[in-house]
Amino acid sequence: MANSKTYQRPNIVRRFIVALMLLAGLGIDEYRAAPTWAARNYGDSSPFSKLVHLIIWAIKTFLVTIPNGLTNVTFEKTTAQISYWLSAENPLHNHPWDNQPNAPLPTEADVVVIGAGFTGSACAYHWSKQSTGKMVVLEMNEAASGASGRNEGVVVMGRFFSYVKKMMSLNLSTTREDLSAPQRSAMAKKFARAYVAAAYRNADMIEQTIQNEGFEVEYARNGWVQGDFASQPGYLAESVQESANEGFNDWIEIEGTQAEDLTGMPTGNDVVVGYSQKAATWHPAKWVWALLSKAVSSDSVSFFSRTRVWKVTDEGDHYAIQTTRGVIHAKYVINATESYTAKLHPEFHSKLSAIQTHAAFAEGGPDAMKQDMGMGGPNSWFGKHPSGVIMGTGATHVPPNQAGVIKQSRFLTSFCISEIQNIFGNSRMHVTREWSCTAGFTDDEFPIIGLIDDKRQYIIAGMCGSGSGVHFNGARHVINKILNLDEPDDYPEEFFSPTRVLDPTNHCWPTID
Ligand SMILES: Cc1cc2nc3c(=O)[nH]c(=O)nc-3n(C[C@H](O)[C@H](O)[C@H](O)COP(=O)(O)OP(=O)(O)OC[C@H]3O[C@@H](n4cnc5c(N)ncnc54)[C@H](O)[C@@H]3O)c2cc1C
Repeated sequence: MANSKTYQRPNIVRRFIVALMLLAGLGIDEYRAAPTWAARNYGDSSPFSKLVHLIIWAIKTFLVTIPNGLTNVTFEKTTAQISYWLSAENPLHNHPWDNQPNAPLPTEADVVVIGAGFTGSACAYHWSKQSTGKMVVLEMNEAASGASGRNEGVVVMGRFFSYVKKMMSLNLSTTREDLSAPQRSAMAKKFARAYVAAAYRNADMIEQTIQNEGFEVEYARNGWVQGDFASQPGYLAESVQESANEGFNDWIEIEGTQAEDLTGMPTGNDVVVGYSQKAATWHPAKWVWALLSKAVSSDSVSFFSRTRVWKVTDEGDHYAIQTTRGVIHAKYVINATESYTAKLHPEFHSKLSAIQTHAAFAEGGPDAMKQDMGMGGPNSWFGKHPSGVIMGTGATHVPPNQAGVIKQSRFLTSFCISEIQNIFGNSRMHVTREWSCTAGFTDDEFPIIGLIDDKRQYIIAGMCGSGSGVHFNGARHVINKILNLDEPDDYPEEFFSPTRVLDPTNHCWPTID
């Protein structure tokens, strides 16, 4: 689809029509997201001032920004709710039921993994490489049907050092009131070090695995450009320096012209741009299917889709895993259920929250936008693909029973489009897909990897929208623990144990030097 050369601004009537249609389509989640938006953008101002800013922003967005952005844009009459990634052929579709409709569920296993996204399939992969014992992977829908098959498709180097430190430091003021501010900062620094070191290794392990196994997952390691730090003057330079001081050199600042070369974004020289050099892009669902297919081809892993786990009961020397197809007894359980966890384990209610993000796919898009690059604007992210653009925005807290539920938002799609058009200039787009998904967030925005009881039940979660930066190394770690393998410990309990969020008072915190 070629770019339009005849872009004309809509007239006032058209602007009101667009605004009224968007307003009529707003749902509870958009209203729920408004305070988060105001807090993020007008942080330190008073509630009244935030409200005034929000109203002015809304008038401008509904009557100016979005109507301008939607010129040249059309929508499929009924947009599909299936993500761009999940429209590809799933080699494990309805596994094993398509080929063996009466396949019996095993009654015993060494390990049961609940969930088949990035995390569950990585557990299966590592197990198949290390053990001849029996692992059963249970998935209530299809492999990759959760966040892993509905995301942006960027393989991140984890979150950058300063961000991890900032979020942890903020949270320590609640969980560790006994510490002074400098002590909290020192402890947060240790957390950030542990996280980023493990994330860097995770990224390299993923690349190695793709190469060694010959996985065809559309992997390209060209980096990820975050296009706007204008609202936080000085922050990018500080964050780059702070990372570099710790020996973490992936996150750098680049000039606008370099960003334009990489992404096609006409940023201009005065814009401050962050660049994660070793981030990559891939087909996230194909990654899940490749890992799981490899694991299932061994004798040690079996996978059952469309099999929901209702309950996990500790029965002494084993767990009883109750499913929609019968009970399995297993010595170990790994919860790879991320934002869905609180439905299965109520103790995670309000400790591991489901945060919903909206995404959409449009055919066409800016000719200048480069493929195989992660990109972000001030309030949204986007990526170019052979037939169009994937885009997304939003971070809305939803109740546990809404985890994974797909909600479409025409307002958020339009908002993303207007941001892309604003950056790249207006291009022709036809929106065919709109979906959403939830990521699992802890309050300190730091993952939890370890035992959730004092026995043999593990969790890997709280990856806070950066699961590609944690899951593979995290799964390796848990499998090594189960098999008692002596390997470097990338996820020490003092940082990653779930007790940090479940019972902070009794968590064994790291010491401060
Ligand atoms: C819109 C969006 C964009 C994102 N973009 C990126 C990105 O570009 N890069 C990145 O690194 N991260 C991104 N993320 C986050 C990333 O997708 C997640 O961190 C990652 O997918 C988590 O993987 P997971 O396997 O732990 O969880 P999920 O993929 O959510 O898998 C959990 C699985 O468990 C299953 N399950 C749950 N409960 C049960 C049960 N009781 N019984 C059986 N099965 C169960 C679910 O059906 C699901 O398939 C994004 C997230 C969203 C929402």
